Amino acid sequence: MAQGTSPIRKVLIANRGEIAVRIIRSCRDLGIPTVAIYSDADRVALHVRMADEAFRVGPPPSRESYLSFERILDAAKASGADAIHPGYGFLSENAAFVRACEAAGIVFIGPPASAMDAMGEKTRARANMEKAGVPVVPGSNAPFPSVGEARAYAEKIGFPVMLKAAGGGGGKGMRRVERLADFDSAWRAAQSEALNAFGNDAVYLEKYLDEPHHVEIQVFADQAGNTVHLNERECSAQRRHQKVVEETPSPILTPEMRAAMGEVAVRAAKAVGYVGAGTVEFLVDKHRNFYFLEMNTRLQVEHPVTEWVTGLDLVASQIRVARGEPLGFRTEPPRGHSIEVRVYAEDPAQNFMPSPGRITYLRVPSGPNVRDDSGVYPGYTVPTVYDPMISKVSVWAPSRPEAIARMRRALSEYVVKGITTNIRYLHAILAHPDFVGGNYDTGFLPRAHSALLGRHDHALGEVALLAAVVDAYQRDARRRRSLTPVSGQRAGPSPWRLRTRGSRR
Ligand code: ADP
Repeated sequence: MAQGTSPIRKVLIANRGEIAVRIIRSCRDLGIPTVAIYSDADRVALHVRMADEAFRVGPPPSRESYLSFERILDAAKASGADAIHPGYGFLSENAAFVRACEAAGIVFIGPPASAMDAMGEKTRARANMEKAGVPVVPGSNAPFPSVGEARAYAEKIGFPVMLKAAGGGGGKGMRRVERLADFDSAWRAAQSEALNAFGNDAVYLEKYLDEPHHVEIQVFADQAGNTVHLNERECSAQRRHQKVVEETPSPILTPEMRAAMGEVAVRAAKAVGYVGAGTVEFLVDKHRNFYFLEMNTRLQVEHPVTEWVTGLDLVASQIRVARGEPLGFRTEPPRGHSIEVRVYAEDPAQNFMPSPGRITYLRVPSGPNVRDDSGVYPGYTVPTVYDPMISKVSVWAPSRPEAIARMRRALSEYVVKGITTNIRYLHAILAHPDFVGGNYDTGFLPRAHSALLGRHDHALGEVALLAAVVDAYQRDARRRRSLTPVSGQRAGPSPWRLRTRGSRR
């Protein structure tokens, strides 16, 4: 981020989908005009319709559009935008892009390139954090030059271990290895996966923590170095190491743990000269020890839950900080409870295969304390080329049980036709006893997999059965009442038999 004060008169959003829409909304609240960019696959996307101006940046592949420095900076120049908000994903954690913005005299709404460099590679981040006295997940702080050295290290720290791509993200290039005999083949697989996904085959390893919780701390810093934390988010409901449901406060955190993790997160941010919104991710083990996992140097998908319990607009705060304004808020205890779910165009019954296509009917949830951050509209065609997340539903309530009830209500209002979504699967998570009980770790969704897929049918079956029984009872009661005066008999035929006969007609 360019240090100093900068008015920010027009913001280009270098992103698409729900997050682009989200950023446009905050800009509009602040009275700042917006510029959307779009690829040919997004010509009629919601963010293009909502922005004040829109510029085509290329064909559908991200490499040639949403990841093209040149085309994005050209659009900024042509539109007169003096700042770029990167959203999440795409160029949001690309230090070279931050430098390119600086060179073009454009404010990058995010941290300085140096902070991204310090936290970008997982191994470098781990080394930097250890230096700052932050506890890190036990493991190596540099990639291994050979499989032999990696294997020897794995034996030293003990199995199971987690192989990880140093340049990784999005759960890719990550492999759990149970035993020595599997090590070499897992190593080769992780290396080639890392090379494919990140163009870098550097792999390192960590001790595999048994059934950890993923708890992250939102941090915020202004250009003067004031750094605060905005409490935690519990993100242990994960599928393939990707978050599906998030909530705050974490059901497992005590106020003391929150304060300790918050202090460490602030220390981590200060150690790298952080500015703006960032997230320090931790794994928490069974004994409630917490370890630094990584820092995301950007806005997170799940930021709305923090907004609900703090009352802040994090995107507006990012813009204010980028203008050189002081933070204007401090750490406060969370107010009430918030939950978010990620709604995907995918089919849980088909191994979560993406389900792109045209949305023929859409009814989104609303009502008290329900928020739907969406990137779609009725008649919109979800493209095949990008992430299939179509919206995020978040709710707020005074307590966790009320928040769960509210989310279940919201999901029951959500109707999407034309494509398949994971809405029923999300509903099943919210109804699962482990989730309701508030003690779920990162193994929860894999463990509950078949129950969650079968549960909705089972649950609906139960509901249908119950409804059928009630209906039968009421109809028969009515029938009995109408039969009694006519026949004058108190004891008529069994209502169940009557119903059976009736149903045969
Ligand atoms: P990415 O950057 O690819 O998202 P992370 O390092 O953030 O990867 O890890 C994502 C998830 O993978 C974590 O939330 C956790 O569920 C699991 N994970 C990562 N490292 C470990 C580990 N050492 N032990 C157990 N689980 C881990």
